Amino acid sequence: MNRILIAEDEPRIAAFLEKGLRANGFVTVVVADGHSAASAARDNDFDLLILDLGLPGLDGHAVLRMIRARGERLPVVILTARQGLNDTVAGLDGGADDYVTKPFRFEELLARVRARLRDPGRTEPVTLRCNDIELDLRSRRAHVGGQPVDLSAREFVLLETFLRHPGQVLSREQLLSHAWGYDFDPGSNVVDVYIAHLRKKLGSDAITTVRGMGYRLGD
Ligand code: CA
Repeated sequence: MNRILIAEDEPRIAAFLEKGLRANGFVTVVVADGHSAASAARDNDFDLLILDLGLPGLDGHAVLRMIRARGERLPVVILTARQGLNDTVAGLDGGADDYVTKPFRFEELLARVRARLRDPGRTEPVTLRCNDIELDLRSRRAHVGGQPVDLSAREFVLLETFLRHPGQVLSREQLLSHAWGYDFDPGSNVVDVYIAHLRKKLGSDAITTVRGMGYRLGD
């Protein structure tokens, strides 16, 4: 089981990351300042560090420098605000492996994490399938029964979330966090609206409503 260190001082984002990563089988530890991040990266055996750049105490760049100065090859994925792209470039120069700009969707972060873990058993598939539904992640194309189906960007991400969890009941909250991100109002009915869109395009019985629990794709 892969262990991930999360260095993030915003509790909402830290909780969002922790919940999502645990649901995907990772063990997580959260630290909320730069000094704790630098020492946890040294003392514990982690497989990857998710590093917010704007940390109290010691910022993400300094943490990264300390880790790399010790010669550790721990993969580091930086979290950065969209307006801080110069920071991001500096981070990659400073030895980060990848970055995700805030606000981000969970699936986006998860794909970066999996790619950086370089575990052959966890390599990202190019095509996701369930029953007669097929999604090509590279070309961003969807097919149902061999016929192409036009999906909006959001519909694509929502369907991708279902295809990554075939046969599982996913709650509205899970679907919101996976396909919309942490900055979305949990009281919104946007999930139901998009499920209705997907049913029109995929067939009315493609996604089952499980009363009181959520939605399921496949058996
Ligand atoms: Ca921060």
